[in-house]
Amino acid sequence: MKTLSRKVADIAPSATIEISDRAAQMRAAGIDVIGLSIGEPDFPTPAHITRACIDALERGETHYAPSPGIPALREAIADKLQRENNIPCTAGQVVVACGAKDSIYETMEAVLNPGDEVLIIDPSWVSYEPCVQLAGGTAVHCSVRETDFQVDDRLLEALSPNTKMIVCNSPSNPSGAVMNDASLRLIADAAMDNDCYVLSDEIYEKLIYGKTHVSIGSFDGMADRTITVNGFSKAYAMTGWRIGYAAAPEPVAKQMIKVQQHTISHPATFAMHGAVAALTGDQQCVEDMRREFDIRRRYLIGALQAMGYETAPAEGAFYAYVKTGGDDMAVSGEWLSNAHVAVTPGTAFGTPGWVRLSYAASMDRLREAMQRIAALTE
Ligand code: PMP
Ligand code: GLU
Repeated sequence: MKTLSRKVADIAPSATIEISDRAAQMRAAGIDVIGLSIGEPDFPTPAHITRACIDALERGETHYAPSPGIPALREAIADKLQRENNIPCTAGQVVVACGAKDSIYETMEAVLNPGDEVLIIDPSWVSYEPCVQLAGGTAVHCSVRETDFQVDDRLLEALSPNTKMIVCNSPSNPSGAVMNDASLRLIADAAMDNDCYVLSDEIYEKLIYGKTHVSIGSFDGMADRTITVNGFSKAYAMTGWRIGYAAAPEPVAKQMIKVQQHTISHPATFAMHGAVAALTGDQQCVEDMRREFDIRRRYLIGALQAMGYETAPAEGAFYAYVKTGGDDMAVSGEWLSNAHVAVTPGTAFGTPGWVRLSYAASMDRLREAMQRIAALTE
């Protein structure tokens, strides 16, 4: 047989998905595994959103739609970005894709040429680097400060004449940290001084505790070099709907639309009608879920610290990022095998020594998980 694609052979499988699949297999074998490895809200999608989707299905919205998304959704997204995020944006710049993950991949395809470097700030979500690699680019990593998880001059040192894009993700998966103004300013200045794009992944913007979300695309001079990515999975508990979006400078959006025309065409038409209801309907459901996550966050961080663990600033998203003081692969392996608690090792996010626990799980399960982990060391 001839050799399969080297490009695909060279990318790592998604650690978040692999570990939760392993937990699911253990569960199927009758083991009571507590799954804290995947970032997925455990709430149902709010009823008015599912209703809008069902109505669309019943109206016969079951055919092809315009490739960049239905006009009502692109308009609602542009309106949201202008109103809430202060990002100058028209509906024509919005490309609706099958999840924010797809938007990130399409961005890389639209922007990168072989030899182009993309700067990724660690700890970073597992799929950025594979998306860069699939699009033929090269990922270059720099780290945040371990004390406050903000960026510093190491970002500038990692830049090269080949840097084409900087990926920025606040609130962060996996650390939960929220970038302060100085970090965002440093990234924006670096992008302007070095003529780079910024991909700003803001999927956790609504899940933020005691901080205010700021979009780098709203900074002076950044509108024509920022691709803002967001979606419905986290804020509206719509992971299975597979709807995300990018708002990009027009030339980038045009490239993304071509990629989309030849690949996914567009997300499911009726699902996009549900997404319109999510954005234009009552936002209380988002706040209710945020409050519940906040209660769990306080409990989990408190319990971990009481066990003596150091944690990253848990200011956003739904993750506790924990310093293990040892080998994260061994620790997460031990927790899964001996405590039946699934977590994701920090190695998958570029920071060995740490593990990520998702608190998108019920309080009962979180309590039980903490008891099981504590029992291991007794
Ligand atoms: N970005 C980050 C930081 C994420 O954690 C996720 C979670 N899956 C995504 C993007 C993609 O989300 P989705 O494709 O479900 O919209
Ligand atoms: N983003 C979530 C996580 O990090 C979902 C899984 C994935 O798509 O990676 O767990």
